[in-house]
Amino acid sequence: MSWEEMVPETKPCWCGKGTITYRMQMDDWNRTRNSREINCPVCLEQANRESEERRQREESKKALYEKAKALAENSHLEHWLSRYSGLSKKAAWQLYTSGKGYPSLGTFYKNTKNEGLANYMRRSFLSDFEDALKKMNVIDEEVQELLNERERI
Ligand SMILES: [Zn+2]
Repeated sequence: MSWEEMVPETKPCWCGKGTITYRMQMDDWNRTRNSREINCPVCLEQANRESEERRQREESKKALYEKAKALAENSHLEHWLSRYSGLSKKAAWQLYTSGKGYPSLGTFYKNTKNEGLANYMRRSFLSDFEDALKKMNVIDEEVQELLNERERI
C-alpha cells in the first residue's frame, strides 16, 4: 500500500501575516491523511494553544465519565447482577435484550459460556453503564448530573 502526495496548497494564515501549507496524502483506497504547516509564529502559537485546550477538555470529559461510571458501579452494579443471578441463560438473554437486537441468543450463549453469566453481565454493565441503567429503568440524578456536566464542557 502506498501513499501518494497531492499537490500542497498554501493559503494566507488566519492573521494574514504568514501562510499555512496544507498537505494531503491519499492511498489506493482513497483514504486521506492531512497535515498542515503553519508559517507564522502568532498563528502557530494560537493553534498550539487551541489544541492544548482541546486536549484538556477531552481529559475533563473523560474524568467526569469515569466518575459517573464509578458512582453507577457503586450504586447499581449489585442490583444489576442480582437481576440476572439464578436465571437460565435464555431467561437472562430475554431480560438483557428484551428478546431482540444485540447480541443474538447464539452469541450470548457463546460469550456467557466462555466467561460465565455473572462475569458477562458485570462486563456489559461496565462497558455501557448508561445502557444498563436504562435497562433497569434507573434514573440516578447524581450520575446524570455528571454526564450533563460532561456534555457542557
Ligand atoms: Zn498568522
